Amino acid sequence: MASGGIVVPSYGYLTDVAQLAKKRTGALLVMDEVTTGFGRTGKMFAFEHAGIEPDIIAVSKGLTSGYLPLGAVIASDALYDGFLGSNQSGRAFSNAYTYGGHPVSCAVALATLDVMEEEAILDNVGAVGGHLYRKLCDLKDSTSSIGDIRGMGLLYGIELVDRNGVPVPGETGKAVSAAALADGLIVRALGSMSHVLVLVPPLILDIQGADRIVAKLGAAIDRVMTSRN
Ligand SMILES: *Cc1c(COP(=O)(O)O)cnc(C)c1O
Repeated sequence: MASGGIVVPSYGYLTDVAQLAKKRTGALLVMDEVTTGFGRTGKMFAFEHAGIEPDIIAVSKGLTSGYLPLGAVIASDALYDGFLGSNQSGRAFSNAYTYGGHPVSCAVALATLDVMEEEAILDNVGAVGGHLYRKLCDLKDSTSSIGDIRGMGLLYGIELVDRNGVPVPGETGKAVSAAALADGLIVRALGSMSHVLVLVPPLILDIQGADRIVAKLGAAIDRVMTSRN
């Protein structure tokens, strides 16, 4: 979803995939929640929006809020139990990384989960994310340079287009990103999808902060695009 330019699966897509996996083929359903996990989309995990139950979830980034490196693979009880056994039994899942389960990183992850609960971070993402989305849509309506606003919670892709609605060249996206950075706003122009600016603000963002982001973004787009259009 993220590196493809913040593409939100269409309604029903994930439910259908989950049903196909479970009922028809018995295939395991694996969700990569490395970007979307831990509140980014307004729920703890993005798959919850679709009401499905994956067998395996890959997580990292938000697990420690990025303060220390940690990644994890979360498996259902049924899968986990399937690998329980002695080394001789041939069932044990013998896999280890040098720093796997590093105690300090794990402590940071637990502290992150505490903060999420104590400060009701999910509620904040829902409220401020909704406000940010509406403001981004207002910005889109006020300019011919934005083709699409995609995302959920506090994760958005802003597609830059020329006056004919055609995606701008990657360099233009990179120039807008640089202009925003010079003004103190980080929006990334993704490598192969540089006409889409990716906005990933902190989950503690407040309404004023969201307004400032949209103002700075609008100014950066104006500065770069009006000179090129
Ligand atoms: C960052 C990212 C990865 C890579 O995660 P690593 O922990 O660096 O292996 C995988 N998937 C998504 C969606 C990511 O955003």
